[in-house]
Amino acid sequence: MRVIFIASEANPYIKTGGLGDVVGSLPKYLKKLGEEVFLILPFYKNIKEKKLDLEFIDEDEIVIDKDIYRFKFYKDRLNFDYNLFFVENNYFFDRKGIYNEDNVDYPDNYLRFGLFSFASLKLSIKNLKPDIIHIHDWQTSLVPVYNKIIFNNNVKTILTIHNLAYQGIFNKDSLKSLGLPNNLFSIDKLEFYGNINLLKGGITFSDYITTVSPTYSKEIQKEEFGFGLQGVLKNRRENLIGILNGIDYDYWNPEKDKMIYKNYNFNNIEFKKENKMALFKELNLDFDIEKPLYSMITRITNQKGLDLILEIFDKFMELPINFIILGSGDKDVENRFLELNKIHKNKFLSLIKFDEELSHKIYASSDFFLMPSKFEPCGLSQMISLRYGTIPIVRSTGGLRDAIIEYNENVRCGNGFVFYDYESYELLDAIKRSLNLYNDREKLLKVIRIGMNSNFSWENSSKEYLKVYNKLLSF
Ligand code: ADP
Repeated sequence: MRVIFIASEANPYIKTGGLGDVVGSLPKYLKKLGEEVFLILPFYKNIKEKKLDLEFIDEDEIVIDKDIYRFKFYKDRLNFDYNLFFVENNYFFDRKGIYNEDNVDYPDNYLRFGLFSFASLKLSIKNLKPDIIHIHDWQTSLVPVYNKIIFNNNVKTILTIHNLAYQGIFNKDSLKSLGLPNNLFSIDKLEFYGNINLLKGGITFSDYITTVSPTYSKEIQKEEFGFGLQGVLKNRRENLIGILNGIDYDYWNPEKDKMIYKNYNFNNIEFKKENKMALFKELNLDFDIEKPLYSMITRITNQKGLDLILEIFDKFMELPINFIILGSGDKDVENRFLELNKIHKNKFLSLIKFDEELSHKIYASSDFFLMPSKFEPCGLSQMISLRYGTIPIVRSTGGLRDAIIEYNENVRCGNGFVFYDYESYELLDAIKRSLNLYNDREKLLKVIRIGMNSNFSWENSSKEYLKVYNKLLSF
């Protein structure tokens, strides 16, 4: 079977969050199952700077009214995990940011990603002869729309929703610039409260929809997490399922990871402490090494529960702990953490940036990882933490609920700490429970072992995707 992924990010080429991890690893695992897999990405400035070994494949133009957009297609000669293609249009993609600059979205994102979708679909149909086209989030949601409306093609499309909070909502005039007919501006198609909603187009026009955890697939059909699309999703519930994301167990592997200071597995788990020492040294920190290190590695957005962290911050700092947060996003919240950093220098550090290598070092060095999310479609950081012997403390929502079970002496499979209501005192209580565990080495090791032995790799979940593809082809 020939499966084409069309997406806006994929690790290690370009990544802003979990979407990049998933798109960068699932194709590899589908290939291991014997499928022929292709991935098409925009040729962003920072990918260009990597000086990859590329082969020119084709060029094409899209004409909309009097506007002509030219695209070139390249293949990466050295990616043997799957077939990787780039779509080049320098006006759209030779920019400093991916989606935004200085936290302000590019106003022409509809055109950038809409026409990328158009061009990728054209390339696929002409050169790649796909059985399935698998698209991701709002950025590529126009693929099934163009597929049915412009190309009148019957190749099967599947949309994965990684986060319903981002829908790609634009002015209704954008339809014309995207070369799409006016009749799509209707409530059963792309119209959304007077605007157009690209994700809604994906949901309506794709043949099948998946999202990234079983719990989230139910949550998004309700008002609280549906962000206005709950009705549309409910209408499509016969063709909607949740498949828990996996992580790439080759890439996230404390035994082999070249980015951490010292490799380890459960049998020499004490090497985590060496990682911690080296991290403190590199970051010039005067932290007490004997105290447990709590960490967060996160996009700084409303979704991630940072308001709860800020609410308990003083009380958290009174505990015998250290805390490091690596993240970027909302400027006000970033500044709050930078201020707090000045006050609690001897036990708290905020690193305001995106830094892949540092993230690996922090996963390896930490004792506990905090994810007090308001909502979390899947969440990968809790799985990465388990793999690195770092115990997650999470709120029970979406994929966090599907992956983490509260530790309890009487429950054998407990792998972390879980709180339920979105309340800061509940978070603080969970942190205190984790501190008790830290002081009982034998029990602590049991929980670490359960986490390190669990399997959240793509090996299981990639098979679920294959089932969906096969089902689609049998329709
Ligand atoms: P989301 O997709 O909502 O951002 P996930 O938990 O699914 O959340 O995935 C987050 C991914 O992004 C993880 O691989 C995490 O380590 C990474 N990440 C988030 N923020 C940073 C950062 N500032 N620096 C490096 N990696 C980060």
